[in-house]
Amino acid sequence: MIKNYLKSQSKDITQLLSLTLGKNHAWLLANDDYQLNEAQTQTLNTLIKKREQGVPFAYLSGTKGFYHLDFKVTPDTLIPRPETELLIDITLDLFSNKTKPYHLLDLGTGSGIIAITLADKNPHWHITATDFSQKALAVAKQNAAITDNEVNFQQGSWFEAVSKQTFDLIISNPPYIEQDSSYLKNLTHEPKTALTSGKDGLDAIRLIINNAPEHLNKQGYLLLEHGFNQQQEITQLLEKYFSNIQIFNDYNSNQRAILAQFKP
Ligand code: GLN
Repeated sequence: MIKNYLKSQSKDITQLLSLTLGKNHAWLLANDDYQLNEAQTQTLNTLIKKREQGVPFAYLSGTKGFYHLDFKVTPDTLIPRPETELLIDITLDLFSNKTKPYHLLDLGTGSGIIAITLADKNPHWHITATDFSQKALAVAKQNAAITDNEVNFQQGSWFEAVSKQTFDLIISNPPYIEQDSSYLKNLTHEPKTALTSGKDGLDAIRLIINNAPEHLNKQGYLLLEHGFNQQQEITQLLEKYFSNIQIFNDYNSNQRAILAQFKP
């Protein structure tokens, strides 16, 4: 019976029950004498086991909310983090002319959250999203069906995907965790390529900063998510080609994003 499960100490049991039965929390409480059939019990037990082995809930449910939309996620894609919503807010605030057809690029789009959310927010923008992973791009393309507005997907590693194209804003939530960080012990189910980037975690960020000028229009912007302890180093890297550097904290008051304008 549902009430027996609700009493148990199992991790996320309510959410796992909801997932098994396709019912929300309120339904579970109102029907706590419902008896699970054999197939449902088996499904639930499998889910509980996977959760106990550390599989993130988002990979079991196959979806994760981000900003105002729900996205499909698979183990080929990073699970969207609430911190990344900061990049959306910054972008929406950046361009005061809401109807100008700016060209935006989301590098390393993963499940497509940044590109698709922005496309949905402003139909005037021309949005390109890239990833080196075909499997991630396949997920992002499916996710693009949640908006009526178009996203142009291109496969390739960082700027290799966009050859000579230029943009008004380049955005990226690249991998930025140090390769030997103990924090990675908690993230064993997500693609490593989406998480770590060299010894100091800055390999991808360095590559993006050094190559962005070739792909930015006059006075174009670069917007990056980064690790809580990387802001100073990134500022130094940016100072060579960029001005008007602005830094942003996430909801936990950690330094998390940086915006810079290509020096005219
Ligand atoms: N933000 C991720 C985390 O802290 C790290 C990888 C990324 O988003 N670029 O788990």
